[in-house]
Amino acid sequence: EVITVQELANRMAERGADVIKTLMKMGVMATITQTIDADTAELVVTELGHRPHRVSEADVELGVIGDQDRTEDLRPRPPVVTVMGHVDHGKTSLLDALRHTDVAGREAGGITQHIGAYQVQLPSGSKITFIDTPGHAAFTEMRARGATVTDVVVLVVAADDGVMPQTVEAIRHAKAAKVPIIVAINKCDLPQAKAERVRNELLQHDLVVEDMGGEVLDVEVSAKTGKGLDRLEEAILLQAEILELKANPERPAEGTIVEAKLDKGRGPVGTVLIRRGTLRVGDIVVAGSEWGRVRALVNDRGQAVDEAGPATPVEVLGLTGVPLAGDDLAVVGTEARAREITEYRQRKKREAQAAQQARGSLEQMFSKIQAGEAKELPVVIKGDVQGSVEAIAGALEKAAGDNSEVKVRVLFSGVGAITESDVTLANASDGLIIGFNVRANPQAREMAKRDGVEIRYYSIIYNIIDDVKQMLTGMLAPTL
Ligand code: GDP
Repeated sequence: EVITVQELANRMAERGADVIKTLMKMGVMATITQTIDADTAELVVTELGHRPHRVSEADVELGVIGDQDRTEDLRPRPPVVTVMGHVDHGKTSLLDALRHTDVAGREAGGITQHIGAYQVQLPSGSKITFIDTPGHAAFTEMRARGATVTDVVVLVVAADDGVMPQTVEAIRHAKAAKVPIIVAINKCDLPQAKAERVRNELLQHDLVVEDMGGEVLDVEVSAKTGKGLDRLEEAILLQAEILELKANPERPAEGTIVEAKLDKGRGPVGTVLIRRGTLRVGDIVVAGSEWGRVRALVNDRGQAVDEAGPATPVEVLGLTGVPLAGDDLAVVGTEARAREITEYRQRKKREAQAAQQARGSLEQMFSKIQAGEAKELPVVIKGDVQGSVEAIAGALEKAAGDNSEVKVRVLFSGVGAITESDVTLANASDGLIIGFNVRANPQAREMAKRDGVEIRYYSIIYNIIDDVKQMLTGMLAPTL
C-alpha cells in the first residue's frame, strides 16, 4: 500500500472522482482516502493517459538491484577495507602507515585530506581503498542503513595485549556481515609481543588462522616501523582475488555516502564511495533526501578530478543539503526527477517526525523521570560532522542513570545547525536538543524560547554523556 487515491489524483492533476471511477472499471473499490498499491496505481495512471514513473525509496533501490550489469561489462575493481579492533591496538596508526605506502600520491603531490576513505596504489599498480573511520561503530551504523561497502575487514590485534572485548565484538560484526577477516597482529616491534598467543586466543573465537590449519590470513605488522605492511596489502589483494570483485564502470554512477559534513566555505560535502559506474562533474545526483548537480569532485589528496570510478572515494560538491553516512547516491536523468525523489523523501521524513506527537515540556518530562513515571529522555542531536553525531547517539543510547530504568531515546540525529524543525521535533516529545559544535539559527532560537525547548551546546563529547547521565538520574534539572 503506497499511495492514497487523493494523492495519486493530485499528482496527476486529475479529479479524485475520475480516479475512483477508473479503479471501479478495474474492479477495485476504493474511497478517496484509501491507499492502493504501486501496481494498481501504475495501471490507473496509464489508464488516464499519463506516463507512470515510480518515485519512492523502493524505486531507487529497485534501480540498484533491478538492472544487473552484463557479465561482459564487468571489470575488476579495488577492494574496500575497514579496519577494526580493540581501542589502542593501533587502528588509527595502521591506517596512517598504510596511507603512506601509496606510490601514486608521492608522485602526484597533493596534500593528504581526511575525507572518510582513501585509496593507495601499490608498486604493482594494484589499488586498495581504506575506510578512514576505524572501529565498528561506523561499520555497524552503515550496515543498519542497509549499506555494505566493506569487502574485507582488517582486524587489528596488539601483540602485547591480545584478544580484548572489542576484538571479539569486531569479529562478531564482521561475521554478521559475512565479510572476510584478515588479522593484522600489530605492535610486533615490541619486545613483549606475543604473536603466537594472539593466534591461540583467536582460535577460541572461531577465527582459525592458516598456521592453525584454518583459512584466515594473518600478518605480523608494526604500524610504528612499517614492518609487514607490504605483506598485509598482499594478503588483502589475495583475499580480493578470491572474492572476484568486479563492477561495471561504464554506466551512471551509484555509490554510498561514507561521510558528510557542512563545510564553511564549500557548503554541503559528501564523500561517496562509488559502487558501480563512473561519477562525473555535471552529473545530477540524488543522495538520500538531498540532491544536486555535481559542481566538483575532490579526491583524497585534495585534488579536483573530473570523474571517479568503482571503489574510488571522492568528495562531491554541489549538493543542496548534507546527506547521511550510509545514504545511497545515484545519478538521475534530470533535475526535475531529482527534485521529485528528494521532495518525496523529505516529505516522508517530515511525516515520520510529525508522528512523534506527545505534548508537554521538558520540565514536565523531568518531573516524570524523577517521579519514576517516565522511562525515556528524548533527545535531538545536531553536530558538525556525521562521525561525532553517530558517536554521541551511540553513546547516549547506551547511557543510563543510576536507576538504570530510564534511557535516552534519540529522536533524530543529523549534521548541521539547529533549525526550527529540530525544535518542533524536540517539543513534540518533551525532548532536549544537543548541539555539538553547532549553534541554533535565530528562528530556531526564537522558537525554542517560545516553546520552552531546552538547547544545550557542547564541544566535548564526554561532557554530553556526563550531563545526560546526571539528567537520567534526576540530579541535573533543566536550565530553562
Ligand atoms: P586505536 O585506538 O586502535 O586507533 O590505536 P592508535 O592507533 O591510536 O594507537 C594506540 C597507541 O599504540 C598509540 O600510542 C600508538 O603510538 C601505539 N602504536 C600503534 N601501533 C603501534 C606499533 O606498531 N608499535 C608500537 N610500539 N606502538 C604502536
